[in-house]
Amino acid sequence: MESFVEVKELQVYFPGKSKLLKKTKSVVKAVDNVSFTIEQGETLGIVGESGCGKSTLGRAIMHLFKPTSGEICFAGRSLTSLSAGEMRQQRRHFQMVFQDPFSSLNPRLTVKEILDEPLKAHRLGDAKERLDKIRQIMEVCGLNHTFTERYAHEFSGGQRQRIGIARALILQPQLVVADEPVSALDVSIQSQILNLMQDLQEQFQLTYLFISHDLGVVRHICNRLGVMYLGRMAELATTEQLYTNPLHPYTKTLLSAIPVADPRLRKERIILQGDVPSPANPPQGCAFAGRCPSAMKLCTEIRPDMLPVTDEHLVACHLYR
Ligand code: SF4
Repeated sequence: MESFVEVKELQVYFPGKSKLLKKTKSVVKAVDNVSFTIEQGETLGIVGESGCGKSTLGRAIMHLFKPTSGEICFAGRSLTSLSAGEMRQQRRHFQMVFQDPFSSLNPRLTVKEILDEPLKAHRLGDAKERLDKIRQIMEVCGLNHTFTERYAHEFSGGQRQRIGIARALILQPQLVVADEPVSALDVSIQSQILNLMQDLQEQFQLTYLFISHDLGVVRHICNRLGVMYLGRMAELATTEQLYTNPLHPYTKTLLSAIPVADPRLRKERIILQGDVPSPANPPQGCAFAGRCPSAMKLCTEIRPDMLPVTDEHLVACHLYR
């Protein structure tokens, strides 16, 4: 049976800077051969350090970037082969919540205007119907519906992110790509927004792709997690398996960095040596080889494929072959 979202061997490459005295330009491999599926109603988390390609991946799924190659299928239809008109029709079914609620909302628009834009763009309802819809979604997202004439700067960070979520949901999408939706917020507000997202998922049967650099944040909201490193998927498993039995040395490093309040449960933090290689010049073998405490000669020569260890746990590492 086909999955709700299928990403197949997706590549997103950007032109890099010209090499001095050479005619050829380098290529930045922001997303390199990434495949995964998301089931309807599921939350798939994508985690990794800044620059690993997770945000580019999210934007490629939203068609904000054109993939270099590969395929994205949504509810059984390949998005990559749609005409511009068909794409416009499909677009309302997948929406995005952005990281920074301070810069992602137009400061010159009132909340009503911000929420009205997508409805107008898709020609949904007359002015009264649209206003009813706006008031309704504001209440659902925990905003007072009488604040429609206020500007974004009159709201707190948490309220602004609620506006961002309301803007994403007003078209009743099926898939929401949330790119670091709580990382710009105070810790006390983060859990409120995560709870809201979970409530909305239940209420509207939403499917989430939840992008974060913080494994501590995604644990309670995601059903499965994918760990990315240098544009590639390193490990993909259920959240339970990833936290209790991480396989990839990079995943183990990320998990060791999560703060734990109980000193009896604290594990020794793994400190990596070296830097992340450039995506314009990725290593020939495993991208993590230069920093991996378990690296072998083979790791520098052959790139490990993403292969299953169990039905629900895949890893790209020579240690498990
Ligand atoms: Fe480490 Fe080798 Fe596994 Fe890469 S393939 S993560 S270098 S052990």
